[in-house]
Amino acid sequence: MSKNVVLSVKNLRTYFDGKEGIVPAVDGISFDVHEKEVFCIVGESGCGKSVTSLSILNLIPKNSGRIMEGSSIKLQGKELTTLGDKELCDIRGKDIAMIFQDPMTSLNPVFTIGKQLTETISRHMGVDKKEAKKRAVSLLEKVGIPSPYERFHEYPHELSGGMRQRIMIAMALSCNPKVLIADEPTTALDVTIQAQILDLMLKLKDEIDTSIIMITHDLGVVADIADTVMVMYAGNTMEFGNSYQIFRNPLHPYTRGLLDSIPRLDRQVERLYSITGTVPKLHKGMKGCRFCSRCQEATEKCKEEIPPMYTISDMYGENHQVNCWKYENTVGE
Ligand code: ADP
Ligand code: MG
Repeated sequence: MSKNVVLSVKNLRTYFDGKEGIVPAVDGISFDVHEKEVFCIVGESGCGKSVTSLSILNLIPKNSGRIMEGSSIKLQGKELTTLGDKELCDIRGKDIAMIFQDPMTSLNPVFTIGKQLTETISRHMGVDKKEAKKRAVSLLEKVGIPSPYERFHEYPHELSGGMRQRIMIAMALSCNPKVLIADEPTTALDVTIQAQILDLMLKLKDEIDTSIIMITHDLGVVADIADTVMVMYAGNTMEFGNSYQIFRNPLHPYTRGLLDSIPRLDRQVERLYSITGTVPKLHKGMKGCRFCSRCQEATEKCKEEIPPMYTISDMYGENHQVNCWKYENTVGE
């Protein structure tokens, strides 16, 4: 994999005004996404995955939330957090595209898919209608839509969920974005269709040289496609590493808990392990490791102080990072 960084997020903090005070939904996360990398963000529901992706595109609702000072998001060296609306609009869809879980929320029900595709293409690529239509049809073919000429004139509700997600991918990739953010893109689909959509995304990624940020709560999806994995919990990064490090040498008790809760064919168990408890309610001034209330290995120190990020080298590579006091005496910071 090439080492060029495309997107660099540093100390991202996104806070909301909640009824009972400030909600630190994302509280100081940092990561780099490289060229052609599939970067997976994984964690249970409510841990801040979507807020992270919306922050990158500056789509946090302004009336209730904000990206805090000191956060930095750079796309090929260009700072995005301080850009004006007009410049951001140019970047969204063109340099960074996004696919959501439910395509119906992003597709407009009153226009045909052909019209929506050609409009996106002509707006971002500055080509005339005829050329845009040509590209749209070829994109529909590329994403595996049968009889694209006929489908072109259909409305979103006439298509199946899997087909609609293919259309979203076509739309997202229509302008050759540098980064594609996919937020739970296959969660609403059944397993066979899910596998087809993941295959399609990987195939297209190589064709158009895009990097993918894949957001999911499903470790099965991560295992299928990730180069790099960031495990999030309650707005913090718990563990970070390449996919071998995360799956073969998981370090954080939270990651281990997540892995133990995936069904496996090679293991007979009475009942599937699941991490007891739920993601804590976030508030300002939380003390200690955010996972400690559910962690079987937690000590007094874990309840009092947030651990630093420890970097570890293992047989699967360097730069395996873990945010847990357990590793205090095994490695340097
Ligand atoms: P997920 O990992 O499931 O995508 P989210 O990123 O959607 O989780 O949410 C993370 C946290 O941020 C949750 O605690 C959620 O309640 C809070 N949050 C998200 N959006 C808002 C909002 N608009 N106002 C207040 N809190 C929000
Ligand atoms: Mg989400």
